[in-house]
Amino acid sequence: MRAATVREPSDGYVDIKDVELRPIKANEALVDIEYCGLCHTDIHVALGDFGDVPGRIIGHEGVGVVEQIGEDVTSLKVGDRVSVAWFFRGCGHCEYCVTGDETLCRSVENAGYSVDGGMAEKCIVVADYAVKVPDGLDPAEASSITCAGVTTYKALKNGNIRPGQWVAVYGAGGLGNLAIQYAKNVFRARVVAVDINDDKLESAKKVGADLVVNSSDINSGEWIQKEVGGVDVAVVTAVSQVAFGQAVDAMKAAGTVVCVGLPKGTIDLNIHRTVLDGIKVVGSLVGTRQDLAEAFDFGAQGLVKPIVATRPLDDINDMIDEMLAGKIEGRMVVDFKK
Ligand SMILES: [Zn+2]
Ligand SMILES: [Zn+2]
Repeated sequence: MRAATVREPSDGYVDIKDVELRPIKANEALVDIEYCGLCHTDIHVALGDFGDVPGRIIGHEGVGVVEQIGEDVTSLKVGDRVSVAWFFRGCGHCEYCVTGDETLCRSVENAGYSVDGGMAEKCIVVADYAVKVPDGLDPAEASSITCAGVTTYKALKNGNIRPGQWVAVYGAGGLGNLAIQYAKNVFRARVVAVDINDDKLESAKKVGADLVVNSSDINSGEWIQKEVGGVDVAVVTAVSQVAFGQAVDAMKAAGTVVCVGLPKGTIDLNIHRTVLDGIKVVGSLVGTRQDLAEAFDFGAQGLVKPIVATRPLDDINDMIDEMLAGKIEGRMVVDFKK
């Protein structure tokens, strides 16, 4: 089967190789991949930013149909549509796995990084960890919810947002666009989108942002304080250190800054503000199987509609270049049936 694998030495790109898959084990399923989205995290993997993994099949926004199940599998059947997500499996018995924080499992496996992922014609998954994609949800759109969607949905949950409150979404790209939709249509919040790219702010408006602000030349935190008196929650998807500092400036007292983007560096926190205004700063990493099932369901209900464009696998390194150049609106998804 054809698969996109990390180059050796790692240079941020992938090779399309013919890979032979091993037979599945008793608790596994073989998935015939239909779509797999390209994520910024895939580029981190291909660059060796998390450690070198030459030959690894990338991809953690995979969606496909179960073609074969192992003899012990009861949670899936042949023909089910399932996802291949970054949270590939946890140990199932540590304090994190048993208390609803399975993505923080210390022996977690991640698709497309520590195990082979979904950017391939076929993928082996652990059946109990493969979340089903509901009928009525377009599979290409589902691929985008598998990572960007669930990540932003979970970030809003971690912000404890309530209806009518204000959310600032920093970074209006692939993640931010979905954060806006979940915030507006699922949590019934009001949204201000912040970016340095006017095209992305235009598309933020289209999906329902109440206010948008270009922070190229101004401190968006001060602007937000002036316009709406601060926000209750900020979800920071931007890959810019500056955005994190501005998000803190944008908060109301008792507000929560939820950190999702992964720029290198540190957050500059004003200690007086943080203490005296009771600001919370939390990290949020993808979502659990249950979070993903919920995120899919809101997509199936039509409350959230990812922007996706499909491409053939042969375009993958061009897609990486386009992503690095910031040219992608929403998500680029490889169509394995093209
Ligand atoms: Zn991702
Ligand atoms: Zn665990």
